[in-house]
Amino acid sequence: MPVFLLFNRVALNRVVMRRDVIELSATNIIRRKLHLLQNQAFINGKWVDALSGQKFDVTNPVNEQTLGTVPDMNVDDLNEAIDTAYQTFYSKGWHTSTSKERAALLKKWFHFLETNRQEIARIMTSESGKPIAESLGEITYGNSFVEWFAEEARRVYGEIVPTPQANRQMMLIKQPVGVAGLITPWNFPHAMITRKAAAAIAAGCTVIIKPAEDTPLTALALTKLAEEAGFPKGVLNVVTSSRKNAASIGELLCRSEKVAAISFTGSTEVGKLLYKQCANGIKRIGLELGGNAPFIVFDSADLNKAVDGAMNSKFRNCGQTCISANRFLVQDGIYDRFMSRLLERVKQLKIGDGSQDGVQIGPLINRSQLTKVSQFVEDAKQKGAEVVCGGKQLPEHGSLYFAPTIVTRLRNDMRLYNEEVFGPVISIIRFKTEDEALKIANGTQRGLAGYFYSTDLNQVFRVSKLLESGMIGVNEGLISSAEAAFGGIKESGIGREGSKYGIDEYVYIKYLCYGNLE
Ligand code: ADP
Repeated sequence: MPVFLLFNRVALNRVVMRRDVIELSATNIIRRKLHLLQNQAFINGKWVDALSGQKFDVTNPVNEQTLGTVPDMNVDDLNEAIDTAYQTFYSKGWHTSTSKERAALLKKWFHFLETNRQEIARIMTSESGKPIAESLGEITYGNSFVEWFAEEARRVYGEIVPTPQANRQMMLIKQPVGVAGLITPWNFPHAMITRKAAAAIAAGCTVIIKPAEDTPLTALALTKLAEEAGFPKGVLNVVTSSRKNAASIGELLCRSEKVAAISFTGSTEVGKLLYKQCANGIKRIGLELGGNAPFIVFDSADLNKAVDGAMNSKFRNCGQTCISANRFLVQDGIYDRFMSRLLERVKQLKIGDGSQDGVQIGPLINRSQLTKVSQFVEDAKQKGAEVVCGGKQLPEHGSLYFAPTIVTRLRNDMRLYNEEVFGPVISIIRFKTEDEALKIANGTQRGLAGYFYSTDLNQVFRVSKLLESGMIGVNEGLISSAEAAFGGIKESGIGREGSKYGIDEYVYIKYLCYGNLE
């Protein structure tokens, strides 16, 4: 029996200690026992501190109070994690595990993730500021990758290729690449981990996860459940670090010969750096980077659907989503109706502490995000844009809140036009013709998501093909799904996550030629 099946039974019989207490918000202090709240990292099946003993604080963006501390690991800890993941893959035999065994583990993890939804949501909301309903939504989405890749694990087929010579047999088989380094962002602290880790593990890889410094607690909660699901030691490792150690950790993951692939979701700036660092070892890399999504409302659009889509696409996670609409292009004939309906809806948004019922807009994640959003709006104002509503910080709610904002008269010399704002700001451009809209929409080096609303069938097919993005929402503002291929073109990234293609990032095709057959 493979060694890791023995681990399963042990882990399943383990009694889970309930020990930690978390304070969720300033206004609504809920003290509960949360057994998923961890304050150590996870290497080789053990909960560990940093070798240096260093820790860093994790704070609640609602009130900037400290929620807890986690290890501030550096390259020494990472070296241990790399060795562990490497040995687990090779000498400890994970590479010989069957897809059926891996599928069973992932299904068990999925089951535990589902039964612990409420607790994960509380942890996620407390460290990310995301409204609780959105945390639960992300958990549904994040868990769906574990379920999906549990199913996909069984379908990593190879091919028998028709041979040109009678005495030969040719086969293509898919094999796991080895150790995968996964670097994830704070805006989806759960789903960005499962979208990568479940695919990699389904493929037969071992993983080292480096979660974002703002949201390591969600990552560790998921890890706790993986441990309980019986993941063998060394298959899933988590190295937490503060921002100051992130660069050296990223560099070592890219440089180490024991790491076979990197998958990164985050800023374009860091993505470019990792791409360069991987060049030296010709290392496989998947990048899911920033976007600058257009949201086009054509004259024929269904107004209600367009306004609903705009609200969903923009204000989810306070606009801190890489597929958030960034530039709204609205055609002349529908402009006034769209704007008045949109303004009505924006004014109704409930702002506050995300742990409270009904809150739709929480704080931004940290000070640097707040400064960036404020500066973008200020820059637009100074260059002649009109702020129709919002446009300011909301200290009455907390020090990281920014008001839902609509800005019109956008011009191409403004930062709001050219860069991803990653905040609750709707920037509007008025246009006359389809050609003009396409030129504006495509006039960027980013190409992650795009959205448009039209009821003209010819236009729908034409614009779907002409918009330069990896993903398009046609009359739809929420497009993410485990079944769909997520990824961008241009500088928005390479590779695809989710869908049947997600596993391809973690396998290579090996050609087997059986010759001289008699
Ligand atoms: P953001 O600016 O939104 O935080 P980043 O791209 O900086 O986005 O961060 C995404 C992830 O990348 C986080 O886990 C962060 O710690 C990590 N990171 C930041 N800088 C580097 C770097 N130089 N090399 C590797 N990872 C990094």
